[in-house]
Amino acid sequence: MRILLVEDEKKIASFIERGLKEQHYVVDVAHDGGAGSVLASVNDYDLIILDVMLPEKDGFSLCLEIRKKKSDVPILILTAKDKVSDKVRGLGGGADDYLTKPFEFEELLARVAALLRRKNSQKSSDLKVADLELDQLKHRVKRAGKDIPLTSKEYALLEYLMIHSDQVVTRTMISEHVWNEDFDSFSNVVDVYINHLRGKIDKGFKKQLIHSIRGTGYTLKE
Ligand code: CA
Repeated sequence: MRILLVEDEKKIASFIERGLKEQHYVVDVAHDGGAGSVLASVNDYDLIILDVMLPEKDGFSLCLEIRKKKSDVPILILTAKDKVSDKVRGLGGGADDYLTKPFEFEELLARVAALLRRKNSQKSSDLKVADLELDQLKHRVKRAGKDIPLTSKEYALLEYLMIHSDQVVTRTMISEHVWNEDFDSFSNVVDVYINHLRGKIDKGFKKQLIHSIRGTGYTLKE
């Protein structure tokens, strides 16, 4: 799932970016409010993490701006501003959650995961389609009870397909949520990764779970 991080302190930004990537999230980083505003309006993020004190445009204004566009993307404000009045302002301005610095990375991850589950109307962090299981906390995938090791990108792709199981997902949807700004839209990288995934989760099984929808994309279903 794809996250936009708007944070001007480069050290903190790269620390958070690295930590999120380790959890298989796809991350774009903006170092000021203006760049954050542009990225938030052109891309379909699953979650946005906003600092408040930012050059060009502060996080509270950016949050209001995103909500004015009727976007329901979950927004988590991450800031050193710890006064109750600031929290009220952030949450009142449309943020879904508010975490103050300094923070424990584990807590940030737990909040990110909870916001994403809520967005995707998931009741638990265990996804299951037929005998295929994905544990979002442990990042483990099993088919018919057997562990299947996946690369980070394969995992992110499978997670996206499983969250949207029984639905048709287009190549554009996949590239928007499983790749970041560096994605080359003229490449066939989505199909290449789908093939990798098929080789790992479907090959050797009677029932195929990943289905191609001609001219459109893919669906994962029983
Ligand atoms: Ca800042």
